[in-house]
Amino acid sequence: MVLPKVDVVVVGGGIAGVSAAARISSTHSVVLLEQENELAYHTTSRSAAVYIENEGGPVFHRLSTASRPFFDESPGADAPLVTPMPVLSVGNDAMGADLEAEVREASAVTPSITFVQGSELLELCPVLDPTVATVGMLEDTAGTIDVMGVHQNFLRMARANNTEIWRSARLTAASRANGVWSIETEAGPIQAATIVNAAGAWGDVVAERCGVPAVGLSPKRRTAFTSPVGQDPSSWPFIYSGIPDLECYFKAEAGEQLLCSLSDEAPSEPCDAKPEELDIALAIERINTISTLGLRSVSTTWAGLRTFAPDRNPVFGLDDRVDGFVWMVGQGGCGIVTSPIAGEIAASLVRRDALPAAVTDLGLTTEQLAPRR
Ligand SMILES: Cc1cc2nc3c(=O)[nH]c(=O)nc-3n(C[C@H](O)[C@H](O)[C@H](O)COP(=O)(O)OP(=O)(O)OC[C@H]3O[C@@H](n4cnc5c(N)ncnc54)[C@H](O)[C@@H]3O)c2cc1C
Repeated sequence: MVLPKVDVVVVGGGIAGVSAAARISSTHSVVLLEQENELAYHTTSRSAAVYIENEGGPVFHRLSTASRPFFDESPGADAPLVTPMPVLSVGNDAMGADLEAEVREASAVTPSITFVQGSELLELCPVLDPTVATVGMLEDTAGTIDVMGVHQNFLRMARANNTEIWRSARLTAASRANGVWSIETEAGPIQAATIVNAAGAWGDVVAERCGVPAVGLSPKRRTAFTSPVGQDPSSWPFIYSGIPDLECYFKAEAGEQLLCSLSDEAPSEPCDAKPEELDIALAIERINTISTLGLRSVSTTWAGLRTFAPDRNPVFGLDDRVDGFVWMVGQGGCGIVTSPIAGEIAASLVRRDALPAAVTDLGLTTEQLAPRR
């Protein structure tokens, strides 16, 4: 039997997989494998959909900044993929000096980031309790993302370049001989020169099935929900509280609803994550402490897995022990925002090119993103 053979097999149909397939397929033949019968079933469809640059530390910050032009252009989309919505991270008096220092560092990359305090907070968000939230860091050029629009956009690009999408096609095993991977999937076998591992929470599982040592990924569950707010919240910024024991966030949604979360990080196995009722109750309590909202009920609930490398930076690189294996994992809470540049990085890795200039111009190196750094 002659096996189907392509240049690259991408594992994972979330935002990481489709952004990689979109860019790689302009020069290579690609098959994308997704274990579920629909794409974007796991973390990608469960995010808070916030475009924020200063999130996840300096490495993620720079990758998010490098992704900005894609969102500003929104190529091929009928409507902008990001709608403006400032992000306000609030703190208490004791956090003022640290927040000011963070603003100084972060504004060197994103100049719209400023320090705010006192009555400025209430002008930005009139429902904050000014006795609890007293200082803040404002990212004025942040926004809310049309996540499925971004996913569709990459999928369209990949399909236009003849990428084949295999659904219900879990990778179950792979071995490499003479520079070629022989890959077993639930939809049949296939051969490829390169495997791109964009399997999210399953990143280490997929690696081990390919005989590649794990990098130590930790999936962490985060529960989110919507709650009716009884007024129009559309002019409020996304509010994130970093106040000790009052960590939480809320964001305006259509229909006078708020999207809310405790910002929880419960360790989890890779799985179809389910929401945790206690985390919802605690989030409501905290949001009602930092604000005058008085939330009481819940409309919808969900949970997703944010997956981190041990140092909480992304793992975007060629494996140094097994040839022809590219890692695109560990996107934590920034995988949607960073997907445009991540796709370009994946393509540069497959082509054995240097990192894109948009990344190196901001001071990032191959070593900072490498699997075994
Ligand atoms: C509550 C919450 C809020 C968030 N908010 C934001 C935000 O505001 N902004 C932001 O940028 N990010 C946010 N994130 C993070 C973001 O959602 C993730 O970083 C991103 O979705 C990760 O995408 P992915 O493609 O790597 O993972 P996934 O979407 O999980 O895709 C991985 C895919 O691989 C498939 N797969 C696994 N194993 C196999 C196999 N063996 N064979 C074939 N396929 C396989 C899975 O089925 C899955 O579809 C949030 C996450 C959560 C949970």
